[in-house]
Amino acid sequence: MDTRTAFILITGKPNVGKSTLLNALLGEKVAIVSSKPQTTRNRITGILTKGNTQYVFIDTPGLHKPKTLLGDYMMKSVGIASADADIVLFMTEAGSVLNQSERKALSGYFASNAAVILLINKIDKVNKGVLAEQMHEVSAQYEFHSIIPVSALNNDGLDIIFREIEPLLIESPHFFADDIATNQPERQIVAEIIREKILRLTEEEVPHGIAVSIEEFKEKKGVILVRAEIFCEKEGHKRIIIGKNGDMLKKIGSYAREDIEKLLGARMYLDLWVKVKENWRDRPALLSNFGYKDDEA
Ligand code: GDP
Ligand code: MG
Repeated sequence: MDTRTAFILITGKPNVGKSTLLNALLGEKVAIVSSKPQTTRNRITGILTKGNTQYVFIDTPGLHKPKTLLGDYMMKSVGIASADADIVLFMTEAGSVLNQSERKALSGYFASNAAVILLINKIDKVNKGVLAEQMHEVSAQYEFHSIIPVSALNNDGLDIIFREIEPLLIESPHFFADDIATNQPERQIVAEIIREKILRLTEEEVPHGIAVSIEEFKEKKGVILVRAEIFCEKEGHKRIIIGKNGDMLKKIGSYAREDIEKLLGARMYLDLWVKVKENWRDRPALLSNFGYKDDEA
């Protein structure tokens, strides 16, 4: 039987909907989704095997200028990822005009060997006339392999993505076992889910200077026991995360547990601790502690 494997990079500016798309394509919660930009800090690889074809998705942190050491790590991971891709799904937002950084990134992707597909996301937010105009404009400017209007949130247009990718696939062995959804270690996914809950539940009050470190991860009689430490940069952030009488932390814990139990298919006990570590974003030793390494292939 012929097998095919496609390496597909999902890219675009922060908040455009990359993680939402990845989750929708996989039908499982793998990448972190937030209404704040740059919450996806690792290259999260989702793997989907349908029939003879294995789709390997790479989610990027998006296009931005690095401001901290952490930003540098993120950019490096984008570079590594794009070099590996056969297909680039470049996402832009419905009703918007391609900005400077999107254009710059696009010229890089067009210079690579990958087929570049433009996804115009969030079509649920604009009317048909606006969308038609936008499609007309971008197709006059760039030679995309195809332009696909989608709504990642509503699962709209996703079948067309698979249909467009199909003819681009070449014979290749599968790189991963056929029954896994991601090559990420479970504990990293658990940490990402906890981080997502913190960012979402605390809304604008806690900035991105938080990290979650899984200190313990074990299984006992079918129950998963996780002890996680949440690091933030300021005492004030710690107070917000814990909340009045520990209410916020309880909420973070119960929302995270719900998602993690669904993902791992097991009951879990989640123990959360909050600690302050100032300026951790600029300390290389701490970064590698949290699993951000720049030598990953
Ligand atoms: P990323 O930074 O590119 O990974 O973006 P996310 O996937 O985290 O999404 C950012 C925000 O856009 C979230 O609030 C999503 O719910 C929202 N979003 C994603 N796709 C759509 C869509 O198709 N329509 C609408 N209305 N919102 C979307
Ligand atoms: Mg994301």
